[in-house]
Amino acid sequence: MASFSEIFPTLPLDALHRQSLDTTEKTLLPVLQRGYARNLAEFAPLVSPAATRHLETLSRHSQRITRKHFGKTIRLFAPLYLSNECVNICKYCGFSRHVDIPRITLPVDQAVTESEALAGQGFRSILLVAGEHPKYVSNGYVEEVIRRILPVMPSVALELGPLNTEGYVPLVEAGCEGLVVYQETYHEETYKEMHTAGPKNRFHWRMETPERAYGARFRRLGIGALLGLYDWRWEVIALAAHALHLTRNCWHAQITVSLPRLRPAPGEFQPRYVMSDREFVQAVCALRMLLPHAGIVLSTREPPYLRDGLINLGITTMSAGSSTEPGGYSSYNQNEWKQTREQEGEQFEISDERSPAEFAAAIRARGYEPVWKDFDQSLVSPAAEPTVSK
Ligand code: SF4
Repeated sequence: MASFSEIFPTLPLDALHRQSLDTTEKTLLPVLQRGYARNLAEFAPLVSPAATRHLETLSRHSQRITRKHFGKTIRLFAPLYLSNECVNICKYCGFSRHVDIPRITLPVDQAVTESEALAGQGFRSILLVAGEHPKYVSNGYVEEVIRRILPVMPSVALELGPLNTEGYVPLVEAGCEGLVVYQETYHEETYKEMHTAGPKNRFHWRMETPERAYGARFRRLGIGALLGLYDWRWEVIALAAHALHLTRNCWHAQITVSLPRLRPAPGEFQPRYVMSDREFVQAVCALRMLLPHAGIVLSTREPPYLRDGLINLGITTMSAGSSTEPGGYSSYNQNEWKQTREQEGEQFEISDERSPAEFAAAIRARGYEPVWKDFDQSLVSPAAEPTVSK
């Protein structure tokens, strides 16, 4: 089976992008009437400038499909930043090695304390985040963190530098169930321009990461594009192609997609391409119309009014009360929170500063149920494990 990285150069992404820009009311109408997209050729019109005028129709279809497959639920998780040490230079990131900030890696005990603080706020699902640094993966640090936090945090996912399949196996065996790796930009030229030093500059190695992780039996695979580096329509079409490939080839895992929009960061990188709120909602609805079973993730990068509006339009998973610096939770104090955020050491600035309880109340106010826990290790039966594709 060819990997996505192998078929990527053969995808007609430029032609699909052109098709999207040239979409007319006449070519858009059949897809809108059908209510879903069967392939990328039908997806491209849904992210077109012409379709932006039909946001209400897109929203209606997206809501219907999402409720059919996910009910009226929003899964909640919290990111826990283990470390801001990183060997890469990514021009847009506040953890980039050329940015002068205090560097910290949480001791295991403090990571446990942080997890307990998050559990005290209701979370049972956590995303462990770290910059890319060989020391996390060479000494068993991440495995130990996973094992120690499992008693309070039954669902653990990872977002750290890509590994090979053999490197992922001990992390899965320690109890980790999800792997998140954003391609950042699918536009190879832009990718090379943005990632000037460190192992992250290997575009195709990164692209193959979800398939390597699937080989290690992760049961959730998250992908995404960092919107603002290149034309958003082109990126979303490429992301959709990637998600379709994983859906077909890694079908034991749930695929999630994310569309983080670039926000200001220490280092003062500004987005090169702007995507309006309206276009952002359009992209979410279009992805739902192509990928009915995919989780769609929304972070606290987005402002409260937009997050609230998207609760019932296609999003299935949201972070809440996020701190994007190592050690930001155990010292949690509602009054000091904003002040803490303004200190140096965050990866990016967040926009929705509501507490988890406040955000859960906002979800309920819209008739949806906040889901704190949807997985437990005891649910994993060895007999039900997938056959690993080599
Ligand atoms: S985006 Fe990730 S890899 Fe790049 S500098 Fe930031 S933490 Fe490091």
